[in-house]
Amino acid sequence: MLTSSLGKGLLQQGHVNGRGLNAEPLLALVRPKPGGELPEGPVEVNQNHGQAKRGGSVAEAIRISRMGSFQRRVAAFRGKFFAATSARARDSKRAEIIKLAKAVRGSNEILPLNKTLVEGVTAALKESGMKSGPQYLVELKLMHVEAGYEVEAWLKRTLDLCKKALERSRGPVNRAAEVRVALWKLEELEANALGRGIPHHPRLAFAWATVWMLREIELRRMKIRDVTFPDPDRWITIWLPVSKTDQQGKGVRRTLRCCGKQPCVALCPWALGWKAIEAARSRGALPGSPLFSPAGKLKEITKSGTIKAWKAHLGPEVTGHSPRRSGAMYYVRAGLPIQELAFLGR
Ligand SMILES: [Zn+2]
Repeated sequence: MLTSSLGKGLLQQGHVNGRGLNAEPLLALVRPKPGGELPEGPVEVNQNHGQAKRGGSVAEAIRISRMGSFQRRVAAFRGKFFAATSARARDSKRAEIIKLAKAVRGSNEILPLNKTLVEGVTAALKESGMKSGPQYLVELKLMHVEAGYEVEAWLKRTLDLCKKALERSRGPVNRAAEVRVALWKLEELEANALGRGIPHHPRLAFAWATVWMLREIELRRMKIRDVTFPDPDRWITIWLPVSKTDQQGKGVRRTLRCCGKQPCVALCPWALGWKAIEAARSRGALPGSPLFSPAGKLKEITKSGTIKAWKAHLGPEVTGHSPRRSGAMYYVRAGLPIQELAFLGR
């Protein structure tokens, strides 16, 4: 049985992200569609249209601007910039990139752009494997420009590098082997392994890394205190450092909720969290101990030990990146929107 008293000492205060996967979708910026602001009713026909002086005049321009049909003329003028279909595609691209940027920054304020945001958005686009990634980056830059901000040298450089990185990822890539963890039976999570640097429960560790889309290094470094339970609704939160050099411990938090099934499915993040913590505690783990350790030890597992155990238990094609890839595929099949996937996968 999973008892809630076990987790009480592990709860950290005031750090709950509060944004589960089923939370409200992020708001998209509202942009009027081209021509969307047209007034209803008949269009005023300007009989004097052809009589303007050759070369035109400001007075004539002012007269036109006062005509009832002016809005329609403005719309037609806009139409010259973008054909209707490409404008629609562009609008939807912009709405999507705004959602992604907000998710990456964790805030609704995305302008002016900064280096971290542009790189974060690029990383998410690249990880998603989307072919049109560079176009989204262009849209991001345009938003910045249209809002009146300068594209300074550092930003231009960042955008150029990010565009290159996205183009590099477009060719055929060697994707890490996927493991269909969702098909596992609960008992399979209990599998044991022995050896130096090898996780005592390699399948449980793999499932945990899959459901949170963890990198292999993030899995190894995760401590018991990084997992918290913002109950009462069976929510589970993990904390992850932003980077290896994250000295201030800023980090990010991600929250998922229980699958809601009875009993929980193999990939229920909440049940996996309890299983991992109970396994660690049964050998005396403290909040600062690694979440996954070798049998009988409270040490971190090693990269080679982890991958070796996964290959032995799950197949020789499995690599350190397999949980991340398996998680992405699992969520894509479950219909998770791309921006949510990017948010979870960081
Ligand atoms: Zn569950």
